[in-house]
Amino acid sequence: MATELERLAAEAATCTRCRLHETRTQVVFGEGSPSAELMFVGEAPGYHEDKQGRPFVGPSGQLLDRLLAGIGLRREDAYICNVLKSRPPRNRDPQPDEIAACRYWLDAQVRLVDPKVVVTLGNFAAKTLLETTTGITRLRGRSYPFQGRVLLPTFHPAAALHASGRVGPSPLDGMEEDFRLLAKLLAERGAAPPKQPASDSTATPEGAEASEGARASEGAQGPEGAPASEAAPAAGGETGAPGEAPDSEQLGLF
Ligand code: URA
Repeated sequence: MATELERLAAEAATCTRCRLHETRTQVVFGEGSPSAELMFVGEAPGYHEDKQGRPFVGPSGQLLDRLLAGIGLRREDAYICNVLKSRPPRNRDPQPDEIAACRYWLDAQVRLVDPKVVVTLGNFAAKTLLETTTGITRLRGRSYPFQGRVLLPTFHPAAALHASGRVGPSPLDGMEEDFRLLAKLLAERGAAPPKQPASDSTATPEGAEASEGARASEGAQGPEGAPASEAAPAAGGETGAPGEAPDSEQLGLF
């Protein structure tokens, strides 16, 4: 018999709550352990996710897998989803009405999976769930109470991929630091202790494709009140999935 989460996913597959149903290939509901103690919430499906119907399957997902391996976890140990379940055209920013329309599914996923720790990836997920206008650069580095659980905001993996080789504070270093805190939060909450980290798990974006039709790029938008240096440089974006024109829009990942 289908679980409530499976019934919800089936219902979401035909969702027409917002305009994105007109342009998506398919709904990317989420996947992973239905009783995971750890849930990741990203921004929205990108090119690869829209094609495959699975979250975080492009370069951002590969980096996420490596960061997880660094603390002895696999993606199967977590539940992974996004704020938006449908890809915005050309990876443009999620619009407030789309976030509001999709919130129903996300709230239900959090309630049904009932994780101990929620990790938000990037600006939109953190701002949406923490109901704040503060940007991710300011928010990250600590955890927040969230619906009887704990929420840990970190950068979007795309931000680390884009910033690779740039001068200035490295989002990847920040993410590695946040994942160490994540391991601690899980251990404190009696979640399955991390296995021995894989020896080759160093989460470098080296070798990651520079192109992913997933999230576009770090937004020029800095966190409110944050120093200008916290605003991500306008990056070229995770663009250029085969056969697809580069994404011109910018996403606020910081
Ligand atoms: N970026 C996201 O925010 N989510 C995905 O599923 C893939 C890339």
